[in-house]
Amino acid sequence: MSQSTKLTERIKRAKTLLQILRVHTKKYAEPVVEHVAQSYDPYRVLVSTMLSLRTKDATTALASKRLFAVAPTIKKLHHLSSHTIQKLIYPVGFYKTKAKHLLRMSDIVLTCHQGKIPNKETDLLALPGVGRKTANLVLSLSFQQDTICVDTHVQRISNRFDLVRTHTPYETEKSLQRVLPKKYWQKWNMWLVMWGQNVCVPISPKCSQCPLLDVCPQRGVTHSR
Ligand code: SF4
Repeated sequence: MSQSTKLTERIKRAKTLLQILRVHTKKYAEPVVEHVAQSYDPYRVLVSTMLSLRTKDATTALASKRLFAVAPTIKKLHHLSSHTIQKLIYPVGFYKTKAKHLLRMSDIVLTCHQGKIPNKETDLLALPGVGRKTANLVLSLSFQQDTICVDTHVQRISNRFDLVRTHTPYETEKSLQRVLPKKYWQKWNMWLVMWGQNVCVPISPKCSQCPLLDVCPQRGVTHSR
């Protein structure tokens, strides 16, 4: 099969998958960052995403709540000591490093960006503890920019859908840009996080009850239920 035929097939499959996902994700809870940072305030989206890395959703939600109660703004965060931040966010993964990153991030934002979380990818990526996943989520949720945030769920499920054949989040982001309609780039992360937490779980996905079964090639799935 030629590359262009493969691409055409993937674009077609993506459209069908999107239609089904849009309907069937309605019953699931929002991912933790969307839930914690309900107003999509850039400060809250950035901080809760930084806390969420390598951390369970329930732990991230509680840690974010404790931190935002004491530091509802970036200025207030900047006035806290590293020790206080550590106590507030414990037990998120790498809480000591994250406390340092949060303080340094607040310093840079206050000094270089007039206290406003930047809305450019390069500026966000220059902040400590901020990678493409975090930057893209902030740009997408807080600044309504068309970005695809690739986390572990997006990486795994996009490959199971055979929309991409990739090994790194960067490759996945770039490949997905070729097959997903732009208007769904922002939604893709939210829907696949919901799907990955409830149906297309990492080990033994629930294929027999999955409404996508007729469309999904289940690429790489060896055990399912
Ligand atoms: S059919 Fe299986 S592999 Fe495909 S999306 Fe559903 S649960 Fe995941």
